[in-house]
Amino acid sequence: MSVAREDQPEGDLRLQAAAPAYPDASNDIPVIDEESLDPEFMRLVEVFSGNQYVNSCIQCGTCSGSCAFSYKMQQTPRKLMAMIRAGMRDEVLASDTFWYCTSCYYCTARCPRGINLTEVMYALRHLAGKRQHAQAAVFYDCFNSVLRSYGRLYESGLLVRLALKTDPMSLVAYGPLGVKMFLKGKLNLLPERVRALDEIRKLYDIAAEMEEGL
Ligand code: SF4
Ligand code: SF4
Repeated sequence: MSVAREDQPEGDLRLQAAAPAYPDASNDIPVIDEESLDPEFMRLVEVFSGNQYVNSCIQCGTCSGSCAFSYKMQQTPRKLMAMIRAGMRDEVLASDTFWYCTSCYYCTARCPRGINLTEVMYALRHLAGKRQHAQAAVFYDCFNSVLRSYGRLYESGLLVRLALKTDPMSLVAYGPLGVKMFLKGKLNLLPERVRALDEIRKLYDIAAEMEEGL
């Protein structure tokens, strides 16, 4: 007789035979110093992910049982949600869980509490970017700097900023490709600005203030 693993709700046993046991299924629970918890962390995740209901998670495990990559993640989505609610900021941001998320939205569609977990994963990537993944952080910095400047994506500007911060010689290597794309009308040389640019910059200022508190 087959038995559902932890985090796998009854009726969703698709992955049971193929995947190994979830890594958080053991009883090896680390002791957490209460002083290290951040009571504001859950609110920060709510704001960055556009969720109002993170605290309403009932730990049913439907998200983990739905996720095709749970077995690869250091913490399953259900466990990550519990850690967010507990304020385990450092442990959450050090996790690889959200880097494995493929944004399939399956967990979001099935969550009985209406929590948009996919956006939670996006938010955590953003919050962890600067701490954990230097390369991703450079990309995010360049991407945000372009959005702050123009209010919309400007590919040429992004590529130049990224190259100058990482590998200036790549500008020479990718030059011919850039010319080809320009001639086919797929690359704008000059940026376009949105009308509500001031509003977008205000949002960035608010986000920067919140990040300083991390
Ligand atoms: S996020 Fe939703 S699906 Fe996942 S454990 Fe919480 S209530 Fe269940
Ligand atoms: S959106 Fe991400 S976390 Fe949710 S089921 Fe898909 S891969 Fe898993």
